[in-house]
Amino acid sequence: LLLKCWFLKLIWFNKETTIQNYLEILKNSKIFGIFIYQDNGSIVYTNKTFNEFLGYDQSELLGVSFYNLIDVSGENLEIIKNIAKRRTQGEVFSIELKEYVLIGKNKIKVPVSIFAYTIEHERKPSGLVVVFNKTKEKAYEKLFFALSQINQLIIRQNDEEKLLKSVCDVLVDKVDYAFCIVGRVENKIFKPFFTRAQNKDNEEELKSFMFEIKAQNKCKCSASKAFYSKKVSYISNVVDLKNCMSDFFERHNISSTCAIPVVKKLKVAYIILIFDVIPNIFDGEYLHLLNEIQQDLIFALKKIEDEKFFWLTNTAVNEGFELVIITDENFKIIFVNNKHILISGYTKKELLGKNIINFFAIDKPKTFKKELLDTIKNTGEFSNIIKYKLKNTSKDYYISMFLYDYMAGEQYYILIGKEIAKEDDLKEKIFKFSHFDQITGLINLTTFEYSIELFLERAAKQNQIGAVIIINPIQFKNINHAFGYDVGNIILQNIAQRIKNNLRQYDIIAKLESDRFGILLKDLKTQEDTFVVCIKLLNELSKPYETQQGKISLSFNIGLSFFPDDAKTAKDLINKAQIALADAKTKGENQVGFFRKQIEQESSKKLKLKAELELALLNNEFIIYYQPYVDKNKKISGAESLLRWKKGANIISPGEFLPILEETSLIVDVENNLFEQVLKDIKEFNIVRYIPISINLSLQSLMLKHIKDLIITNLKYHNVDETLLKIEILERAFLNDFNYIKRLIDEFRQNGIYFALDDFGTGYSSLSYLTRLNVEFLKIDISFIKDLQNDKTKNIVKSIIYLAKSLNIKTIAEGVEELLQFDTLKSMDCDYFQGYLFYKPMPKDKFFELLKNGG
Ligand code: C2E
Ligand code: CA
Ligand code: CA
Repeated sequence: LLLKCWFLKLIWFNKETTIQNYLEILKNSKIFGIFIYQDNGSIVYTNKTFNEFLGYDQSELLGVSFYNLIDVSGENLEIIKNIAKRRTQGEVFSIELKEYVLIGKNKIKVPVSIFAYTIEHERKPSGLVVVFNKTKEKAYEKLFFALSQINQLIIRQNDEEKLLKSVCDVLVDKVDYAFCIVGRVENKIFKPFFTRAQNKDNEEELKSFMFEIKAQNKCKCSASKAFYSKKVSYISNVVDLKNCMSDFFERHNISSTCAIPVVKKLKVAYIILIFDVIPNIFDGEYLHLLNEIQQDLIFALKKIEDEKFFWLTNTAVNEGFELVIITDENFKIIFVNNKHILISGYTKKELLGKNIINFFAIDKPKTFKKELLDTIKNTGEFSNIIKYKLKNTSKDYYISMFLYDYMAGEQYYILIGKEIAKEDDLKEKIFKFSHFDQITGLINLTTFEYSIELFLERAAKQNQIGAVIIINPIQFKNINHAFGYDVGNIILQNIAQRIKNNLRQYDIIAKLESDRFGILLKDLKTQEDTFVVCIKLLNELSKPYETQQGKISLSFNIGLSFFPDDAKTAKDLINKAQIALADAKTKGENQVGFFRKQIEQESSKKLKLKAELELALLNNEFIIYYQPYVDKNKKISGAESLLRWKKGANIISPGEFLPILEETSLIVDVENNLFEQVLKDIKEFNIVRYIPISINLSLQSLMLKHIKDLIITNLKYHNVDETLLKIEILERAFLNDFNYIKRLIDEFRQNGIYFALDDFGTGYSSLSYLTRLNVEFLKIDISFIKDLQNDKTKNIVKSIIYLAKSLNIKTIAEGVEELLQFDTLKSMDCDYFQGYLFYKPMPKDKFFELLKNGG
């Protein structure tokens, strides 16, 4: 554009004034280089800028014919010579604007635009040539072109080596760089892999272009720099430096070079070296484009790698497994592997779009589906032996199914299965699942052990607990003796059926040696749950059995062992359950035995407590205590509502029963009741003082679908101002689902209800949570306050307060018992204080009195 302006100006001025007037300006121009020639193209004047373009010193060019500076030959050169001659003879003709490449010192090439004019210089007709350096445009042009060419290659190529070879070729053949070498670094030596040169004669030399990659900073070589930094490195002008390649550069008139490291799996896999004869064609100014080329190539290699891996896994999935099925979240089949199509006899069409459940031969598909979903949800995986319907028959498959969360909202189920080997080739099959009990059809001891092991592997990782149960009918031998084995077998089959009917589909049932049955209960919430299952089983199993000989009654004993408390291996768990069974026998008939005696007591105690708590809820025995918190002047600023159980004359603290409430869903009901009570109380308190009250909400309550609406409607219903209610949550609440809780806090906040982070600093707390959660308060856990005399603790508390301040979060210190603690905390600028030093939790009436008396 600049050039064109000048150009137009010259045409314009040409009419009234002469170019001569402009010569002075042009001579000093930093943008335009000029030279003046006379006879035979001999240069009689050059300005500084022109010298700089070509790398010459001040008067070096005087006397040189400009024909030698232009990179043209033959006919074209003759034309130029002819025009020049006419100018030096005084002929004036129209101004030309042309593109040339000039040859500078050390044979460097400089792309330029020029226009020429006839002037009078030192009384002689002369040619004036105005030169505009186009290196920058050229550099951009080339790089853009390179980028677009490479991008096209990337889309088309899915072979790493072919891609790199094409890149190498394109950079030279199409983009017009002088050389390109794609090489690898092996043992610190750069070795060319693909090479390309403008001049084919040079390719041989490029092929042997090996050099040492030297440690950082030692060599100015761009390849070494690129190798160590993993970043694009360039040398704008090699004339300025001496390095290990100077020789090579000189021989081939190379002026500018760059090295693009291509990183694969965090390592530099290749380095692409590009060389050009134009100085500054690689420069910091174009680094972003070079970086882009680098990133595109890295991306391409990754894509190729991923694709390769994809095909590998695809083959593995299609051919390696007997059964692989992927379904959408509604269990509709969207993928089935080739091998299974081959084995099953179905066509793809017969499978795709169908519900997977329909292919399981099960009695109650609805209940099964629910259990399946529950198990996957609770344990991450469902695995069991299931009769799977093939086209013409059904076969037992060991099936494992799990949920795959692809991205937000997209969920798939993946199912893999293996057929359990047929009876007749049992001997050859080492596969453990081939062992079944002949009478009941249940799996046998070996398989049982294997199933337990499978579970343990996962359970250990996911902190699951499990139980092994052994059930033994008492004096079963007598039945066989009295009624014969056939009757005995029928009863055993009945027992198996009853056990099945009383368990969830995914619990594993086995028939062990002689008359013992084994059960693996997989996803247990608590050990007491097992106890409940055992009682239920004993009840069901001891009901009479119908036989041709009439009703027969039996008694049972049960032995129990727990993972991980009692044992951590399958064999051990079974052994300990056997010991527990012996223990049951000493107690009498229809008894449950434990490996550890105290579990029995604990379990029954807990069960009793659970029942009591349920009653307590019905009888409204849960009440609220209030504990105020104060500001720096000990003035009451608010209060926290705390749960108490009024059991007869006793007031029981939540520590003793809260965990059990939380194990059941009772907590939700309890908190709901408390909340209503708190709202009523707030209204009463309001008469004397406008004071905010906090409630503690458990994770279960927070996870309620309509928790927000529930709270807001209740506030409205009771006509309580939102700002009077604060919600305390424990840090571990958001471990479960950080984003959900974060959203909840934000939504509540929009409605004027603010949160406090309770017990801050315990467990998993991380300060980074704080910056992301929009809470109003942070309650520094009592454990810190207790340990405040310790300097380390003091510093932690200090920084918690400091950080909270910077985030505009108010701090409440919990459990302040001593004056010294209060003073220390005050000096740290803690905002509020809660603890026995000021007030203990107290019944509502007492708190009300306190407020009335001004606190
Ligand atoms: P929290 O939320 O950290 O409540 C503070 C606990 O510290 C209360 O115990 C309180 O009595 C006690 N405390 C206050 N000042 C001092 C002090 O100076 N020294 C000592 N040693 N202790 C002090 P509390 O009432 O036994 O409650 C225990 C926990 O039970 C609460 O801890 C809270 O996590 C939970 N909780 C209480 N009510 C509810 C409720 O309605 N729902 C839920 N989910 N949890 C509740
Ligand atoms: Ca609390
Ligand atoms: Ca707390």
